[in-house]
Amino acid sequence: MHPEASQHGLAEEPPSTAELIRVSAAYETGANVVTALKEVSFSIGQGEFVAIQGRSGSGKSTLLRVLAGLLPPTNGVVAVNGMRLEEARDAELSLMRRRQVGYVHQFFDLIPDLDVRRNVALPLILDGVSSHECEKRVASVLELLEIAPLAQRRPDELSGGQMARAAIARALVIEPALVLADEPTATLDLLNAGLVLDAFEEASRNFGAALVVATHDPNVAERADRIIRIEDGMISDCRGG
Ligand code: ADP
Ligand code: MG
Repeated sequence: MHPEASQHGLAEEPPSTAELIRVSAAYETGANVVTALKEVSFSIGQGEFVAIQGRSGSGKSTLLRVLAGLLPPTNGVVAVNGMRLEEARDAELSLMRRRQVGYVHQFFDLIPDLDVRRNVALPLILDGVSSHECEKRVASVLELLEIAPLAQRRPDELSGGQMARAAIARALVIEPALVLADEPTATLDLLNAGLVLDAFEEASRNFGAALVVATHDPNVAERADRIIRIEDGMISDCRGG
């Protein structure tokens, strides 16, 4: 636990997978600065499922970007698995993203020219995992998400729910400590959203990963261990847990 955490009285809590202490983040567009997060503090325990709820523009995606080490905070402390992101070098951040953080993008961002198996294998290939190990892990995560029969299909041959599963498989194949998902059910109907979420929860639990899901959807939030509401870049409410 780092000194700032003990100063904030967090020292007695069990080790967290992620921790934010008074984190602010901003975007510069020309002469304007948009402050998208304002002194946000919370921590995420091992294997915990946290929903980040808030209307469009409230700062949900920004929060995920900061947790993924994609956007450096302007102020505050961000720690993922004990590593201080705001102090880390680019190479350390890339390594963390490759090995510890699974990211499910809002529109899934599957690579159109690659079939499901190759899309899911990509993070392992980029990390230099041997082809034997890679095949084994891809097969097992496709099985877990019930998309093994779709392994040879390209993204344009998949339904929305199947694309979501493939994106989730790609995020989980590295066996991450932290999974971040940006409105993963926004493009799905109620039935598919529920099914995708079942698979997501089960798979994350299987790997013991903490799960942070940004969502508009009350049905998603309802299933989380904890809901963090964000308004205009600030936490307005925190329930459960
Ligand atoms: P949400 O995901 O909740 O819809 P975002 O985190 O995307 O919210 O956005 C929070 C605020 O930051 C909004 O005011 C948005 O306009 C602004 N913002 C987001 N991304 C950028 C960007 N790349 N450049 C400038 N402003 C941005
Ligand atoms: Mg967003």
